[in-house]
Amino acid sequence: MDDKMLYSRLLGLSSPWGVEKVELKLTEGEVHVWVALPPKELWVCPDCLERAPIHDHRERVWRHLDTFQYRTLIHARVPRLDCPKHGVKQIRVPWAEEGSRFTALFEALAIGWLLQAPIAAVAERMGLSWDEAAGIQARAVRRGLARRTLEAPRYLGVDETSFQKRHEYVSIVSNLEGSRVLYVADDRTQESLDRFWEALPPDHLASIEAIAMDMWEPYIRSTEDHLPDAHRKIVFDKYHVAQHLNEAVDKVRRQENGELVADGKDWLKGTKYLWLRNPNNFARDKWRQFGELRESVLKTARAWALKESAMCLFDLRYLGVAEKNFRAWYGWAIRSRLEPIKRVARMIRNHWENIRTYFEHRITNAGAESINSKIQKVKYMSRGFRNRARFRNAIYFHCGGLNLYPATAKPVQ
Ligand SMILES: [Zn+2]
Repeated sequence: MDDKMLYSRLLGLSSPWGVEKVELKLTEGEVHVWVALPPKELWVCPDCLERAPIHDHRERVWRHLDTFQYRTLIHARVPRLDCPKHGVKQIRVPWAEEGSRFTALFEALAIGWLLQAPIAAVAERMGLSWDEAAGIQARAVRRGLARRTLEAPRYLGVDETSFQKRHEYVSIVSNLEGSRVLYVADDRTQESLDRFWEALPPDHLASIEAIAMDMWEPYIRSTEDHLPDAHRKIVFDKYHVAQHLNEAVDKVRRQENGELVADGKDWLKGTKYLWLRNPNNFARDKWRQFGELRESVLKTARAWALKESAMCLFDLRYLGVAEKNFRAWYGWAIRSRLEPIKRVARMIRNHWENIRTYFEHRITNAGAESINSKIQKVKYMSRGFRNRARFRNAIYFHCGGLNLYPATAKPVQ
């Protein structure tokens, strides 16, 4: 097999395209492959598939998968046609998508890597600039979103997540069944979520049975404005409730630690995470060690016990039992003389109508396989995003469940 035939096979070229010339540039570490069409007057317009005469040619170059260690570049003079209907049109080439400077197989390989490793690492490994690698990712997302056909969702989750600077947010709507991100919007305002609702087809709106979220007024208002019977469908996420209670416990601890330290006692020193950890995640001996603290008369221990007993409400099977227990818990919390806990207790009471919906729908935003934990991984992997658009792209890329690969290339694993 000669080198032309070899490259023709490697590129998967089919008639009428053929390899014209192969040049190995050893010093540059490059292989250049010239691909050409037979001389012919008429080709097919990509838009109407009608034959049309050649207008002129454009020299184009694509980066292809390396041949062993050699960077491989495909050259072609691509005809542009004079279509009577569509004007001047470049014909499509079978090895690359329109407008891309990489072959489809090269993009597929890059996408496969980008799913596993940070952009910077993929760029370095594949000999791309950071922007080129990010461009392949962005194009993959556009392609995936354009192809996406969604099933009508039953359970949604809305959440916010910050990026880079801690006070900048995006809002994320996901389908809780299948854990995939459906929508990413800037900020966490009412308008952020409004745009999601406005883009939702009516049959999808009708299929929604419940939506999990934090007790966040802008999301609540937007949902009430757009989702019929929202008051029965909004479920305040139990992990957000836990988060509010954890913050209250931590405030109590900080304050009490201050008082103790002033008194020369370091009982609470270094204990922060013991009070915040889920009891199920303790090793047995650590739990025993923690026993002395949590059974103490410290205010922090009281706050902790209140938090834990509130979270136990969510394990109850029947709404009636949960409501009765909640009333008892609320009384205890309000008499606790722990201001941060009292504040959260009132917040829970004020939002109880949409916490009790949990007992009907049993949905939550969090959990080990949740979107949120995937997004934390994405953030960790990239060590910060320079802007929202890039962050949004990465979320869709990793969590959108999209078909990212160019149509002309099979995924390269
Ligand atoms: Zn045409």
